[in-house]
Amino acid sequence: MQVDLQPPLKITKVVQGKEELTFTQDGNAYYVSFKNPQKVGDKNSIEVYYEGTPQVSIRPPWSGGVTWSKDANGNDFIATSCQGDGASLWWPCKDHMYDEVDSMLISITVAKHLTNVSNGRLRSIIKNKDKTRTFNWFVSNPINNYGVNINIGDYVHFSEVYQGENGPLDCDYYVLKDNLSKAKIQFKDATRTLEAFEYWFGPYPFYEDSYKLVEVPYLGMEHQSSVTYGNGYTNGYLGRDLSQTGWGLKWDFIIIHESGHEWFANNITYKDMADMWIHESFTAYSENLFLDYHYGKEASAEYVIGTRKSIQNDAPIIGSYEVNKSGSSDMYYKGANMLHTLRQLVEDDTLWREILRGLNREFYHQTVTTKQIENYISDKSSKDLSAFFNQYLRDTRIPVLEYVIKGNKLQYRWAQIVQGFDMPVIVYINGKKEWISPAAQWKIKESNEVITDVKVDINFYVAEFNLEG
Ligand SMILES: [Zn+2]
Repeated sequence: MQVDLQPPLKITKVVQGKEELTFTQDGNAYYVSFKNPQKVGDKNSIEVYYEGTPQVSIRPPWSGGVTWSKDANGNDFIATSCQGDGASLWWPCKDHMYDEVDSMLISITVAKHLTNVSNGRLRSIIKNKDKTRTFNWFVSNPINNYGVNINIGDYVHFSEVYQGENGPLDCDYYVLKDNLSKAKIQFKDATRTLEAFEYWFGPYPFYEDSYKLVEVPYLGMEHQSSVTYGNGYTNGYLGRDLSQTGWGLKWDFIIIHESGHEWFANNITYKDMADMWIHESFTAYSENLFLDYHYGKEASAEYVIGTRKSIQNDAPIIGSYEVNKSGSSDMYYKGANMLHTLRQLVEDDTLWREILRGLNREFYHQTVTTKQIENYISDKSSKDLSAFFNQYLRDTRIPVLEYVIKGNKLQYRWAQIVQGFDMPVIVYINGKKEWISPAAQWKIKESNEVITDVKVDINFYVAEFNLEG
């Protein structure tokens, strides 16, 4: 049996029942030998003893490890984050995304004046003889490795109950003592977020484990049922509007974005890091669905179109399979614009919402591949989207609508496309809305008046080029 743990931590002993097991080590992997055969279907357990000082995160949360910090009053303020580098940075585990434990007890011992907040519900606090306290948190749902976390600080706590689609949802907030009054105002975005995302994505996926926001000494991360927060109690992304439209300053980026991951990352989880767009494209897209719900469709469109400025088109969104490698950071806003384009193609917001909610039902608490997501959307929208996804997920080129105007004739085609790309698109011909279906070959559309002006609907993430313009 393979158990992973990254140096400088090391495994010192593995025990099954009363028997100590032998193991060998190869880099981060430990291979444990059993004394007795372990039969498929049996439930057995082993205890792994480990020790050492875990790696420090150089740049949390983008590099994994522990962040050792102090609050303004000199109290310890400590947190873990490990997406990408893997949870075996700080505890021995089966460090792969394709499988999740079905529940988890996280027990952390801290100095008595400090509090540890992890995932799930606080089951008990044990007072130890040496004046430390052990916090036992229990997660009753499947959880991926990087979703697990510990957060230690001089926390104060406040809470509310949100009446959601599945009934009352406990919302608990843990913040540093000095920030309590700021948090009570800023965290009003939490229930606004739950309301918008339950509407678009379906019920919050972890009612049994509650919903939490926990202040940390880094920007934030989508830890399951204990979303971590370090956005400085300001709106926007550290005070900035990523869309430069003004809409990004109406809400706290970290509360909305990281909470969006409860649906796409924690409920629906990638099996392979190459498919990280399943987490980030849908969650970046969720930012504009939050706007759509609270400020209207036009605001949401302006926002997602505004985020195009950050698209690089440097490498495909999908990374390399089976080597723990994600694709381009375009998985955020190119991905969001791809989904916004898809909403135009579906041209039916009731159906589009049903597809988003359906994904969360169909793949409830599962790990998935890109293909499963693609096939589900193709199936439910009754469109073959394979070339569409190949273009936006597996290629760096943006489709270009090339056209030539000759009197009352419009000649047009798609250029810079993958094999079979034939996405229909809305154009405004002399200001009049029309669907056209370009392909790699030239097509001609005749109008009953002289064409003077052609514009592609800006909601489609494509380029346009008038060959004579
Ligand atoms: Zn994210």
